[in-house]
Amino acid sequence: MNKTSENKEEGCLGTSFSTKVIRSGFAKPDTHGAITLPVYRNAAFEFPDSKTIAVAFQHRTDLHTYSRISNPTVTNLEDKIKAASEAENVVALASGMAAISNTFLTIAYAGSNIISSPHLFGNTFSFLKSTLSQFGIEIRFVNTDRIEEIEAAIDENTCAFFTEIITNPHLEVADLPAISFLLRQKNIPMIIDTTLVPWCNFDAKKAGIDIEVLSTTKYISGGATGIGGAIVDYGTHDWKSNPKLGALPKPKGMSRFMFKLRSEIARNLGGCMAPDNAYLQSLGMESLELRYNRMSHSAYTLASYLSTHPKVRKTGYPQLESSPYKTISDKLFTGNPGAMFTINLESKKACYDFMDALQVIRRATNLFDNKTLVIHPESTIYGTFTQEMKKVMGIEDTLLRFSVGLEDPEDLKKDIERGLEAF
Ligand SMILES: *Cc1c(COP(=O)(O)O)cnc(C)c1O
Repeated sequence: MNKTSENKEEGCLGTSFSTKVIRSGFAKPDTHGAITLPVYRNAAFEFPDSKTIAVAFQHRTDLHTYSRISNPTVTNLEDKIKAASEAENVVALASGMAAISNTFLTIAYAGSNIISSPHLFGNTFSFLKSTLSQFGIEIRFVNTDRIEEIEAAIDENTCAFFTEIITNPHLEVADLPAISFLLRQKNIPMIIDTTLVPWCNFDAKKAGIDIEVLSTTKYISGGATGIGGAIVDYGTHDWKSNPKLGALPKPKGMSRFMFKLRSEIARNLGGCMAPDNAYLQSLGMESLELRYNRMSHSAYTLASYLSTHPKVRKTGYPQLESSPYKTISDKLFTGNPGAMFTINLESKKACYDFMDALQVIRRATNLFDNKTLVIHPESTIYGTFTQEMKKVMGIEDTLLRFSVGLEDPEDLKKDIERGLEAF
């Protein structure tokens, strides 16, 4: 069950982000005094007697029974994320998509609807639009810049509002506090994919987020060492009016959502995080703030430079004066909106020529690797989508997406210049 532990170390050295994450302790002391929690690769856990094993199964103690349900190394990552986010409960899963699918399968039911931005990560769009619709769940796409559009889409069967914290590749930032004000009046949970901005620069609770879903593959892992995802529950939503969750028990320190997720959905779907990945991602958590600030600073430097370059038609980055989202981005992310930026060139061919000339920047999908990456989203991530879907999602074939890594920004700038001379 809920394995989040008493954290004995918490609070002893102040509350700065990195200190909190690095000092976050183990649920139980390690027998050998290991300073980093070892990887528990085992599937099963044994018990001293039949009574204890029965208690572990029936009363949901903090004892581990089987690694699909919980595992000490995975719990340790969950505890680090809990320390970082100050959430009520965290579940780590196999991937960002596992976090997203488990969340919606916990709350949505046949006849219900989800209100969402159409500008979503490709698989999320496909999950909502294709997979969930086969179970009688309707997706209502809205322009999240228009609160009245969100309000008009709400009815008695709306089970959630969803968007991404910075949409990818459009780089829109919704006014979450304003949307939250509306949703709280209507008792609708706000679920946000926060893959693009970690907690060191963003106070999710203050923004009114009830549940965060994220791909830990990105910023958290650091160096793209493995796939993972997490569901972060702030315990702020009252689930009583959700027909699927309303009658469930509400254990202490756990929402009805979390109860359903932990005791049924996550273990039935079986998308548990592998202990090896949890180990690597726990290490990533410790250098997160350092990496994020460096990447974000380099991204701003490069985006500013490109925004006045004659061969670049448009540069997208929320911190640029030209972005319509600068004010809200400054407010939500303390002027530090991360490592992703985009440029538009004159044609698809120019994008290809640009990419093919690069020598430092890698041609790859993924975000927030230590290496700087570039991709042409229209022909890759959205390559199998129909023209009509691309239109709904606003995917342009003149757009390149960058994820800025930890290399020297001067070297990146020279490489970008090499690309811009190639067409
Ligand atoms: C990568 C990504 C996902 C999916 O995460 P995986 O770990 O690849 O399953 C979801 N949302 C966003 C915004 C992403 O960037």
